[in-house]
Amino acid sequence: MTEDCIFCRIVDGEIPARVVYEDDDVLAFLDANPLAPGHTLVIPKDHYETLGDMPTDQAERVFAALHDLTPVVEESVDADGSNVAFNNGAAAGQEVPHVHGHVIPRFEDDGGNPIHAVAGSRPDLSEDELDDIADDISAATN
Ligand code: AMP
Ligand code: ZN
Repeated sequence: MTEDCIFCRIVDGEIPARVVYEDDDVLAFLDANPLAPGHTLVIPKDHYETLGDMPTDQAERVFAALHDLTPVVEESVDADGSNVAFNNGAAAGQEVPHVHGHVIPRFEDDGGNPIHAVAGSRPDLSEDELDDIADDISAATN
């Protein structure tokens, strides 16, 4: 528990939330300022700021909850689809520094955008630059 973290305070029961799922490691609750009916946040109960801070076993549990909850949330609000995403770091728009996955139900003709719209204009990258980026990432992961 991090004292000044609003999501840790929800986990601890100090702040009320509309909890829709809970297990030993994960809590899911409705977003208090929803972008759509059913907008749900899925968090690890332990405090980690970003995805990279979270141990693999915790990440697996958060993703499993997202996997199980997403179709349930969609059905509950009769949605046609959903965006499932993390704002990861302040530069990406993360306002609450406790990892949380958003499940945002989407509806035909809701006027929203795909996730491609989040990063501003597309960079003009050459084939060589793309190769270099891919090499850097694969060298660090393999
Ligand atoms: P992000 O920009 O990804 O950090 O999103 C934080 C989300 O948390 C926003 O969608 C807020 O509406 C939501 N939020 C903030 N405080 C609360 C709260 N007390 N209960 C539920 N959702 C919250
Ligand atoms: Zn926290």
